[in-house]
Amino acid sequence: MSDITSVTPDREAELLARVPTGLLINGEWRDATGGKTFAVEDPATGKTLLELADATSEDALAALDAADAAQAAWARTAPRERAEILRRAFELVTERADDFALLMTLEMGKPLAESRAEVTYGAEFLRWFSEEAVRDYGRYVTTPEGKNKILVQRKPLGPCLLITPWNFPLAMATRKVGPALAAGCTVIIKPAKFTPLTTQLFVAVLQEAGVPAGVVNVVSSSSASGISAPLLKDQRLRKISFTGSTPVGRRLLADAAQNVLRTSMELGGNAPFIVFEDADLDKAVEGAMAAKMRNMGEACTAANRFLVQESVAEEFTAKFASAMAGLKLGRGTEADSKVGPLIDGGARKDVHALVTEAVSAGARVATGGAPVDGDGYFYAPTVLAGVPNDAEILKNEIFGPVAPITTFKTEEDAIRLANATEYGLASYLYTRDYARMFRVAEQIEYGMVGFNAGVISNAAAPFGGVKQSGLGREGGAEGIGEYTTTQYIGIADP
Ligand code: NAD
Repeated sequence: MSDITSVTPDREAELLARVPTGLLINGEWRDATGGKTFAVEDPATGKTLLELADATSEDALAALDAADAAQAAWARTAPRERAEILRRAFELVTERADDFALLMTLEMGKPLAESRAEVTYGAEFLRWFSEEAVRDYGRYVTTPEGKNKILVQRKPLGPCLLITPWNFPLAMATRKVGPALAAGCTVIIKPAKFTPLTTQLFVAVLQEAGVPAGVVNVVSSSSASGISAPLLKDQRLRKISFTGSTPVGRRLLADAAQNVLRTSMELGGNAPFIVFEDADLDKAVEGAMAAKMRNMGEACTAANRFLVQESVAEEFTAKFASAMAGLKLGRGTEADSKVGPLIDGGARKDVHALVTEAVSAGARVATGGAPVDGDGYFYAPTVLAGVPNDAEILKNEIFGPVAPITTFKTEEDAIRLANATEYGLASYLYTRDYARMFRVAEQIEYGMVGFNAGVISNAAAPFGGVKQSGLGREGGAEGIGEYTTTQYIGIADP
């Protein structure tokens, strides 16, 4: 690891001093009931960055009081006005990209260049939904019988609970807040306890952009269920939008069933990265690096299983392993760091357990294969070749910089292996044959397919999965509909 630090301690301290540490309820920053706080640490050093107010169930309900009280006026606010607030928020986040990027790197660990890319991606949801806010169409048609009319309009759902994960601290918040505000919903945000600082700074920007009191509330907390449980029981809440793991999503769906809540669930993935023998192998390696190593592999879209046609497996593995071995590890704030630490010690242990199991099942370590000694939760970029199809690593989300490779003979084999999982979020496909691209895309059970593309996230595209990867879509023309309900009025002819 390098000890060249590109960000000075003074700059870090100055930024941290500007992050609000309270709960945002009804437009005011306040302490948690009982005054408890929790520590947010830097995963590259294990040191505490800030102490934040630790919201209780009582605080969560106070946030719902505020969201409920603000709902009617926000729903009546002109769409253009809501759009302009979101547009101002987009501009403020973009102007302060360096602050947001550094804050994400400090609390999450990813290299600064990746944090900057996330700011661009995350801010785009604010711009995209500022444009969608004024294009929420309904319809007015004559009935098939030829008399009377049908008027269909979309209305905001009402107060929403937004629960976000730690891996993309800004983008996961903007991807929910953008469409919710555009649709006219008020929100309560519960960020992940590892990375709440970015959300705290983001909502301060929303306030500055003109979001009225009560429309956006934030209850950072060390107890996730202490926040979600009382809210899901309260009939004033109309929706939960959750991004996180499938087991937690499943539990929240069960709780949400009590009040028949609208739900959006962006859950885990087990993305196949399929390389056919006719692919441009250099481009496939470049795509594999992006699909695997973005966010150190801590992404729901991360390529989790590399399925490579037998005839090119050796060449692909050698090129991929050499590219992985060349990556520089280091604290995300170091200028030349390409791979940061994992989020915590537990995550690193889980990753290593999967590697160890695969090796004992017969996989060969082409590069990496072990934790890195020293400060922080670093793990060596790893390529495993010849992984048997029943290895645990192919069944579980790895959430780390490890690429297991397995081979296939025919297109049918590739499709069968790709679908052999309960997940169905992202998938990747490398081939020069467009007819094959359509054939395979048609048969694989995934919400998203990257065709000769290792990065597919885009605010203009509907992000989401099938099977146990979730329900609903974020972004694109579909995104705003997650926050609206349909009302129809039957109108008799005069
Ligand atoms: P997680 O499920 O542990 O936590 C996600 C959020 O839920 C956090 O805010 C957490 O505090 C909260 N939470 C945890 N337990 C809870 C409970 N019992 N009740 C209410 N809330 C609870 O997931 P994570 O480790 O933060 O994130 C990684 C997971 O998220 C991976 O599975 C990844 O694939 C998934 N993910 C999915 C997408 C997507 O768009 N599909 C995007 C990013 C991450």
